[in-house]
This record gives sequence, C-alpha cells and structure tokens, in this order.
Amino acid sequence: MGHHAPMDLAARYAELEERIASACQQAGRKRESVHWIAVSKTFSAEAILELYQLGHRVFGESRLQEAQQKTKILPADIEWHFVGGLQSNKARKIGNSFAMIHTLASESALTELAKCEHKVPVLIEVNIAKEPQKSGILPEALDTMIKACLKCQQVQLKGLMTIGPNSETPEESRPWFQQMRMLRDQHLPGGFLSMGMSADFDVAIQEGATHIRIGSLLFGERL
Ligand SMILES: *Cc1c(COP(=O)(O)O)cnc(C)c1O
Repeated sequence: MGHHAPMDLAARYAELEERIASACQQAGRKRESVHWIAVSKTFSAEAILELYQLGHRVFGESRLQEAQQKTKILPADIEWHFVGGLQSNKARKIGNSFAMIHTLASESALTELAKCEHKVPVLIEVNIAKEPQKSGILPEALDTMIKACLKCQQVQLKGLMTIGPNSETPEESRPWFQQMRMLRDQHLPGGFLSMGMSADFDVAIQEGATHIRIGSLLFGERL
C-alpha cells in the first residue's frame, strides 16, 4: 500500500507538467525558467527508471548511501541533486557525487566541500521561519555564510533554498516564499531559488522559485 501502481506514474507526470505550465502562465513566467527535481528518496530504482523512461532526468536524494546504491544501477545521464541534511563528515563525498547540493547550512560542511575534486554547485539552506528544530542559516547570518562561500574555491554558490514550515494550506507558504525571494534579490541577485514541494509548488512558482522539489505527488506517499 502507499505506492501507486506503475500505470499511474505517466498520468501523474503529465498532470504535474500541466500544473507547472499553468502556474508559470499565471505568473507571467516562461516554462523553462522553472526546473523540477523528482525527489526519489525512499522510492525504488524501478520507480526512478519509469520516470526516466518518460523523459525525466533530474532526481533528488537525501542520503548518500541510498543514492549510491541507485546510481550504480541507473543510467549515467541522470542528474542527481542532494536535498538531505548535509553532515560535515559526509559533505566531501556528497560533493563529489552530486550535480548540486541544495542544503549547505554550516561552515563546517563548507570546509569539507572545499576538499572536493571539482567545483560543486551549492545552494545555501535558509531557515526562513526561524524554526528551532530546523537546520538552515538564519536570515541575519546569511551575509556571513555567503562571504565564506565566496572565499571557497571549490564551491560555486548558485542561490538559496528553503523548506517552508508545514502548513495546512499552500497560501500559508506564500509569505515565507516572498521573504526568500527578497533575500535572494538582496544577497544573490539572479541566483537560484529552490522552494516549493508537492503541497505548495504552485505558490512557489508564483513567488519566483527556479527549482521545485516534488516527491509524493509523483511517487505516492512515503511509507
Ligand atoms: C522529501 C523532500 C521533498 C519532497 O517532498 P514532497 O512533499 O514529497 O514533495 C522536497 N524537498 C526536500 C528537502 C525533501 O526532503
């Protein structure tokens, strides 16, 4: 239970594409300005392959070991994004294995990324609602973190990311997304903005997200 039958995926994929296109249109944005990451954590390599066969190439994982098991058996032209908590002791390996890291949230992880084999594209995770239990840089500390990134040769700072507070309705996410956009405009004009998940991606697109991260809407509820 929980996982949807294989046949459903094509329909869900088409529906998602339609909703993204319509949110872009409403916001007066080009469809190409929004990238979506299929967050496949906890889902099988078969489910990923099915989406791959529908034409999708960008997937998100939140644990190094799980991702390594999947990359071993899946096509090499998949672009893997890291969306999980970035622990310092794994940061270097993660930097070497993923196309982009969405969750840089500490200077100690940055120090480890500095040892990567190639320049790693990263986003700084912002704890926009200042939730005590959540990781992410506080808005007032962002400037310091950006300066540290810019000093780091092996890190290519691309933009900001947030996981908004859980909310009952997508509208509750809007003010946080608006604040994220302001932070981006202020600190990294033209940079990426990774925000919006299954429950609130339409609102995120309206508020300027360049990358949305979609899991359960495509693959079904995680067990
Ligand atoms: C799991 C996860 C997602 C996907 O969440 P859904 O609600 O299933 O779409 C997006 N971003 C991050 C950081 C995640 O951990």
